[in-house]
Amino acid sequence: MVLGQNFRCGFYEVSANERLKQIKRAGFDAVMFWWGDEFEATDGNRYDLINSAFKEGLSVNTLHFPSLHADYLWREETTKAYAEQLVAAIQDCAKYRVENLVVHTTRYLITPPYNQTGLDTMGRAVQVAEREGVNIALENTRFPDYNKFIYSNIESPRLKLCYDTGHEHCYTPKRDILGEFGDKLVTTHIHDNCGKEDDHHVMGEGNINFAPIFKRLRELNLKYYNTECYCNETSRYYGKISLEQFLKISYDTLRNAVENSSCGG
Ligand SMILES: [Zn+2]
Repeated sequence: MVLGQNFRCGFYEVSANERLKQIKRAGFDAVMFWWGDEFEATDGNRYDLINSAFKEGLSVNTLHFPSLHADYLWREETTKAYAEQLVAAIQDCAKYRVENLVVHTTRYLITPPYNQTGLDTMGRAVQVAEREGVNIALENTRFPDYNKFIYSNIESPRLKLCYDTGHEHCYTPKRDILGEFGDKLVTTHIHDNCGKEDDHHVMGEGNINFAPIFKRLRELNLKYYNTECYCNETSRYYGKISLEQFLKISYDTLRNAVENSSCGG
């Protein structure tokens, strides 16, 4: 089992290198990065960051493709440029031996109807992913029907699932994402909320019942347990604890959940 933390979890006043060091010191094996240039002004170049992570002894199994323009996939006028970015990110994954690239299929409430245009683009990306030995892990967001449409039209061992606990809880509580797509599970975004907003809080801060989820993750032989939590303004910890304390909570809650999932069969 590999335990990971998302790099951008708050505390942006702390230097990027120090944040990486503390993630390692908290006990995590791995770190997840956003694979766009949106935060490079404050965090530094993403290629430098991933190299720094390796130097600190952290592994990287999952990168996040930028989701700001996820709707471009389905639009005739933007899909080609989107495909090129997707292919470049897949090639970066291959170069750094990162197994999984997480991709959203919609952006917020912007949902052009799913269509052949998007399928063609995703199909092209999947071919590159197959050649490069990288997984495209579609993440469950507000509208899992888009994921379902892609899964049912593109057959590939490289088309996978990134299961997001917080999204399921607040956006699609009546769906059973692992029941529907669990056979494609390769990586996770584990975080908590109270069922109303996508808060991305640390485990235990919201009301997700994690024990049965972790039992299923274990049954599905998940290897990569990655948290995607933030000490943001809506967190009860915001402004009250240090990065070190926050990472300790993040690591301890994750580790306990993983360990307890093996108890009682
Ligand atoms: Zn997520």
